[in-house]
Amino acid sequence: MNISTVNSNDIKVRPIDNMLKYNGRYGEYGGAYIPDVLAVPLQKLSEAFDYFSRDPEFRAEFSNILRDYAGRPSPLYFAQKLSKHIGSTLYLKREDLNHTGSHKINNTLGQALIAKRMGAKEIVAETGAGQHGVATATAAALMGIPCKIFMGAVDARRQALNVKRIQLLGAEVITTTRGTATLKDAVDEALNYYISHPDVFYLLGSQVGPDPYPRMVGFFQSVIGQEARAQILMKEGRLPDAVIAAVGGGSNAIGLFSGFLEDHEVKIYGAEGGGDALPGKTAATLTFGKPMIFQGTYSYCLTNDEGQPVESHSVAAGLDYPGVSPQHAFLKDSKRAQYFAVTDKEAIEAFHLLSQLEGIIPAIESSHAVALAIRLLRNQNLLAIVNLSGRGDKDVDRDF
Ligand SMILES: *Cc1c(COP(=O)(O)O)cnc(C)c1O
Repeated sequence: MNISTVNSNDIKVRPIDNMLKYNGRYGEYGGAYIPDVLAVPLQKLSEAFDYFSRDPEFRAEFSNILRDYAGRPSPLYFAQKLSKHIGSTLYLKREDLNHTGSHKINNTLGQALIAKRMGAKEIVAETGAGQHGVATATAAALMGIPCKIFMGAVDARRQALNVKRIQLLGAEVITTTRGTATLKDAVDEALNYYISHPDVFYLLGSQVGPDPYPRMVGFFQSVIGQEARAQILMKEGRLPDAVIAAVGGGSNAIGLFSGFLEDHEVKIYGAEGGGDALPGKTAATLTFGKPMIFQGTYSYCLTNDEGQPVESHSVAAGLDYPGVSPQHAFLKDSKRAQYFAVTDKEAIEAFHLLSQLEGIIPAIESSHAVALAIRLLRNQNLLAIVNLSGRGDKDVDRDF
């Protein structure tokens, strides 16, 4: 996905932990494992984030944009028919109703606002299915900063509508034909561009990559959990028994979970893209992977028998990533959260079920969280919040 695969042999990769003033670790996970040339730009970014995330003026501007531009707060919706069907009380956190159709806008608006405050002349990002590209191009347009989106040529052909959207928003789409011309190759291309132009702002789309990205993305997405906690207290007068979200890189999930981490009576469940739920045919990194340094951070990663990172497999493009957030790695090991591989089949069933029962077509990514809720809460008579991370418009012409 992101700050990543330094495949050029002459770039020396080293940890910069001793340079970091701030805590980029979640237990033993996290940190920043990066080529020398990125040490200074990431240090500057870290300092800027640390400053602005505490600055009342910045926080007020971010809240105003989230409200008036992105449409927050997103509703917490009592899914009555789904609840009856399952035998537990389910609320859906409606991130699908945000501008551009998912939680991704919370993060791109936050980072683009930092880019503007830092005086960035250009924003760059990579995208696979195009969702992060659209959200980034949107935020860049709003801030008036030129934007380049790197995309594999194969993905660009498959996602022609999102390419068009990005271009309409005034950003430049740069396609690459290297490798398999998909996400990983777009990452390589974007990273090479960043390495040769370290003054640009690299806008990362999930809670992955080197410090300060996981902290920063977690901070901007935490609005989900803050709202959900206040909303459930208003509606039910108590905290939920469980909160559930889909985990790709981990950003929508940490956004919801962070509102409840200190409430130890609330169980926390993450739904990974299980694919066929078999090693080699899955994107369930926390379930099937092991800890290693990958794409700038120390976290779980899917590997082959030789311990090399492998391609992941999931029906959901947004979950199809062999790495995962270092914070989720920590939450798993510390047992504060539990992660489950949800199969393609289960997710597709939940996709249809929610569409028909509630009149809400969920993103296939979010359908994994709905499917996990069905699996864990059936006839339990429990109260739970499921993060509906995005809408399913993009998935309607898939054959499932
Ligand atoms: C990108 C995406 C995801 C996965 O990304 P996270 O960083 O794990 O949240 C999940 N749902 C939707 C709708 C997405 O677009």
